[in-house]
Amino acid sequence: MATVKKKTTTKKKTTVKARKVKKMTKPVSKAKRKAAPVKKKTAAKRTTNPKGTLRRVVTTATIKDKSFNPQVFEKKWQAKWEADKLYRSVIDESKPKHYALTMLPYPSGDLHIGHWFSMTPPDARARFKRMQGYNVLFPMGFDAFGLPAEGAAIKHNIHPKKWTYANIEQMRKQMRSMGAMFDWEREAVSSDPDYYKWTEWFFIQLYKHGLAYRKKAAVDWCPKDNTTLAREQVKGEERLCDRCGTPVIKKELEQWFFKATKYADELLRFDGIDWPDFIKVSQTNWIGRSEGASVEFPVISNQSSVDSNQFGLITDNSSLITVFTTRPDTLWGATFMVISPEHPLVDKITTPENAQAVSEYKAQAAKQTDIQREAKDKEKTGVFTGGYAINPVNDERIPIWIADYVLMSYGTGAIMAVPAHDERDFEFARKFGLKVVPVIQPEGVELNGDTMEAAHEHEGVMINSGPFNGTRATNDKGMKNPAIKAVIEWLAKESIGRFDVNYRYRDWLISRQRFWGAPIPMVYCETHGWNPVPEDQLPVLLPDDIDQWKPTGESPLKFHPTWKHTTCPIGGEPAVRETDTMDAFMCSSWYHLRYLSPHDDNAPFDDAEYNYWMPVDTYTGGSEHANMHLLYFRFFHKALRDMGITEGSEPVMQLRNQGMVLAEDNTKMSKSRGKVVAPDTLVDKYGADTVRAYLMFFARWQQGAPWDPHGIEGTARWMRRAWTLFTDPGLDTSGTNARSTRPSEETLKVLRRKVHQTLKRVTHDFENFEFNTVISSLMVLLNEMYKAREAGAVGSSEWKEATEIYLKMMAPVAPHVAEELWTNQQGKPYSIHQQMWPKVDEAAAKEDVIEIPVQINGKVRDRVVVPAEAGEEEIKAAALASEIVQKYLEGKEPKKVIVAQQRLVSIVM
Ligand SMILES: [Zn+2]
Ligand SMILES: [Zn+2]
Repeated sequence: MATVKKKTTTKKKTTVKARKVKKMTKPVSKAKRKAAPVKKKTAAKRTTNPKGTLRRVVTTATIKDKSFNPQVFEKKWQAKWEADKLYRSVIDESKPKHYALTMLPYPSGDLHIGHWFSMTPPDARARFKRMQGYNVLFPMGFDAFGLPAEGAAIKHNIHPKKWTYANIEQMRKQMRSMGAMFDWEREAVSSDPDYYKWTEWFFIQLYKHGLAYRKKAAVDWCPKDNTTLAREQVKGEERLCDRCGTPVIKKELEQWFFKATKYADELLRFDGIDWPDFIKVSQTNWIGRSEGASVEFPVISNQSSVDSNQFGLITDNSSLITVFTTRPDTLWGATFMVISPEHPLVDKITTPENAQAVSEYKAQAAKQTDIQREAKDKEKTGVFTGGYAINPVNDERIPIWIADYVLMSYGTGAIMAVPAHDERDFEFARKFGLKVVPVIQPEGVELNGDTMEAAHEHEGVMINSGPFNGTRATNDKGMKNPAIKAVIEWLAKESIGRFDVNYRYRDWLISRQRFWGAPIPMVYCETHGWNPVPEDQLPVLLPDDIDQWKPTGESPLKFHPTWKHTTCPIGGEPAVRETDTMDAFMCSSWYHLRYLSPHDDNAPFDDAEYNYWMPVDTYTGGSEHANMHLLYFRFFHKALRDMGITEGSEPVMQLRNQGMVLAEDNTKMSKSRGKVVAPDTLVDKYGADTVRAYLMFFARWQQGAPWDPHGIEGTARWMRRAWTLFTDPGLDTSGTNARSTRPSEETLKVLRRKVHQTLKRVTHDFENFEFNTVISSLMVLLNEMYKAREAGAVGSSEWKEATEIYLKMMAPVAPHVAEELWTNQQGKPYSIHQQMWPKVDEAAAKEDVIEIPVQINGKVRDRVVVPAEAGEEEIKAAALASEIVQKYLEGKEPKKVIVAQQRLVSIVM
């Protein structure tokens, strides 16, 4: 305490003196200044703003100007900003709005450096937007339901609610230390009953509009987390759980789904939104739209009596198998058919002599998981059924096989095999001695079905294809391929098949057999089936008195003695509640709407707030959510739009993804391996502003980088040097101002030029999320300002302007330091964060002269300096006049001299 107090007194004196003497300082060498004991004596009037509101601040926390002490003034400003509601965002029709949304965190415990990396640069940008005159909304909340919270709760053996809210409290505190401009009055926590009331309400709206339905299906199940997963939460070819990495298995369960596939085509369109290509490609591939044809193959039955109506019987002993193909141009080469061992027709087409082999194969396939069955490197197995189908394009009889790599859950459970033009079919055909008939002939090669060594999967000319012989097949997919287009049209005319589209995308499975989620507000009774809970009874609350929340494979809510028992909303008879809860991605599909009016008890969000703030202008967060959250919430928004709840087609106009902060050794930071960087420790040591600035500086934000623990010293040095420039009077050894020389016109002109050039760059870089170059530009300008100070610029109007612009540019990056220097040290009006972003003086920023490289026959040989406004002829003349160029020309005339946009002169000899 004593130390702080002493510092406090000293500071009060020097601050003012510093400001007074700056005008008259003279240049002193760095070494000298460093060694010089700075005298602090003069006392004068204290710094106050016009309103006098700084009084308290000044008396409690001013510090010695040379002792850069962010730990003290950062807390001071955070408290003041909060008390003054500086970051409160309310509707203001007089200003353009900017909704800057950043992904909300899981309350998983301590805030790690990754949180800081994902939140503080976007905070700087939101601040920049605000200084540009936008009314900025930058809210924050917690994605508090879901598996991570419950998993951690189980591990620590406490109720998930208790654990979650303790973590939220801790993380709120840590987030406040960032000095971010979060509007905490808009905070939303998805596990609060007044939040999940509306999550439930949305479920009911989807149900009422036919977009939520219940169905028995083979679903992906994580045996470790004991719950179903959405397909998006199953990773890679190995099919691992997105949460815990355990291989996922299939389970048949009655589950709730959202009809996301209804929006498959619309989700493929990204018109009018500025999203990274990577995300668009990823979502496009995930939705996996492919054009092709559905073709019907009549089946020749081997049994006399067939219960055939359900299969679309043609004659007494045949039925139809529908096949979807993306390559109808190869139909004439379909020499066999493969159906899934589970296909309903298998038993009907299998002949007695093949019955035993087929039944053994079926039993064997049933034992394997889908993962094993689909593995690419797995040897192809299969069994002939004895049955045949008719290839409808040429009436050829083709054998029907069963093979485990064809799954009933994908497509129709049947494929036509074209061994000449599909590698997998080719391997299968060669293994079992099946016919190979080439139908696409590549240029200059004659394919022979008996001797081919691999499938030809590319372009060529159609052969052995009846009416289509000679038609050119390109490598284009779908209707863009003339051969495919022609065949599809023909199939339709002949009533054999039709144009069809297949999607990889599936409906969103949202049931979770877990406790810590929003209850699914549905009730079942024997008489009336499933019905939604009446809306005036929402929310269906999670019970607090539950000890059965540990994962058993069934929803813990099932084991609560009373919770599930209720009455039927239709008939009033005894009924039971749905005991599964919702996927937490449902909660995060609409949180950006809850921020609009988090305390509204009558609606999920307020219409006036919606009309003013939506859509989100800039969304920032991790790209790992490409096919999950980022796709779910686009679907959700479109569904709400169709139900008349929202407007517009997209929730977010611009998306930007940060990269990852990796461990020093380039691996993922992990708590278990002790490689986590704790931001709190860094904040204690350097202050939040230095940590913020370093996170912007050490990597390109959209790329990320391995953490470099030493690099932060450089950023800390910059911060201290900036502090010193604006607080240190720059006295000489005698302690007096001995500067007598006035700065030259050139010094001041150069200073202004550098300032406005930097401003121009920094403005551009903030706009474009190029935070690292914001910092490096500020570092470079600081050096220029030191030079200008040495040259006597202090006291000039140019210096004053430079100081103001510098601090304003610094404000989004280092909000506390900038405020302390601006308001306290410089005595300018509080708050710097309410100042307008400075305007670039283009004339001042313009260089007088420019340097242009001169190439001779493609190699740079010289550089010429010309006036900045020089035209083509002048530049040409300057280049040809260069001594070096003359030497190369050896007196000859050059063949060509090209001036490229004032950037390059190219001479060809
Ligand atoms: Zn898992
Ligand atoms: Zn009923």
